[in-house]
Amino acid sequence: MKSNEQNVVEQNLLGMSQQDLEQFFSVIDEKSFRATQLMKWMHQQGVADYEQMTNLSKSLRDWLHKNATIQLPEMLNEEISTDGTRKWLLKVDDKNAVETVFIPENDRATLCVSSQAGCALDCTFCATARQGFAGNLTAAQIISQLWFAEHRLRTQFNKRRVIGNVVFMGMGEPLANFDNVVTAIRIMMDDNAYGLGKRKVTVSTSGIVPKIDKLRDELDVSLAVSLHAPNDEIRNQLVPMNRRYPIAELMQACRRFIEDKNRKHTITFEYVMLDKINDSPQNAKQLAKLIKDVPSKVNLIPFNAFPNSGFERSSDQVIEEFREILQAAGITTITRRPRGEDIAAACGQLAGDITDKVKRQRHFEKLHEREMLDYRVEVATCA
Ligand code: SAH
Repeated sequence: MKSNEQNVVEQNLLGMSQQDLEQFFSVIDEKSFRATQLMKWMHQQGVADYEQMTNLSKSLRDWLHKNATIQLPEMLNEEISTDGTRKWLLKVDDKNAVETVFIPENDRATLCVSSQAGCALDCTFCATARQGFAGNLTAAQIISQLWFAEHRLRTQFNKRRVIGNVVFMGMGEPLANFDNVVTAIRIMMDDNAYGLGKRKVTVSTSGIVPKIDKLRDELDVSLAVSLHAPNDEIRNQLVPMNRRYPIAELMQACRRFIEDKNRKHTITFEYVMLDKINDSPQNAKQLAKLIKDVPSKVNLIPFNAFPNSGFERSSDQVIEEFREILQAAGITTITRRPRGEDIAAACGQLAGDITDKVKRQRHFEKLHEREMLDYRVEVATCA
């Protein structure tokens, strides 16, 4: 190992893909298998202390101490819903935090991750939009949500692996933070890290057309598109991004996304059910016509309320009638059961709102009481 390397800047190794780490080690003439060893320690074993990485030489460990950090996420709050859903508030910087939601299912568990602190898109029915935009998360901040959840829960559930799916349906627009999201997904899918399969990672987008094409070129993942309306008139009101990339262009991008893929690949269209806005039988028929030649399924999301939203949730009966019209047109349609509503962890309710001064004050008082302010994640070493 070269000892006098000057070009290496201190960085958080947690957010580096295998390729990044190989390059990082090549600068000091270390072999590429060091990257694999480090990936396994950090992501599979949950180890962040170089001294525990017993297959690295003493001189390499010393060098890492001086030149690189493994910075773990800091948890500010945890809430557990009566249905088992958990929501964590993770610190981004002194002013911002993001929310990550763990959703247990019978045979698998899904983690809903954030890609940005706040969101710039301004979708009118979404609580995150009301926060405004505070910045992109780094690749390390994105992957550390999975690191945190996986290693925290392994010991509690006494399982070797806990999370089987990741969805980018937390705060932010993932395709507006493209490079960092792609790097984090590469780590999620790496067999030396979390080994998630192609269709186990879902990117949800409001429809940034050129970035949908770019994603197709870079990664084989599932795509969910927040459609929410069967025509431009309604969608312009709900998803401002539609004025830039209207529905016809979006549909073409969806077709391109799956055209070379095998037949099992479909797009998921998300459709929030808003009372008297987009939920009429006519809207359902128009939607069926719009997407009939895009291999797809539809997730109907009953609107999740938040203070002063100005919207109401469609009634169960209206949602069911809407679903039946789509089903009758041959489109697989499911109504997504809201999860974690009692802790405001459902779609569109995430706000990570420590920037609001009053709430932040109350929040930190609460944390002090629980002696959690400087809470650091306990590393669960799990073989
Ligand atoms: N920016 C990405 C991820 C957003 S959140 C996107 O637009 O897809 C994931 C899903 O929750 C999106 O479909 C979003 O439109 C939906 N959503 C936002 N607010 C909601 C609310 N209040 N009720 C139900 N779904 C909501």
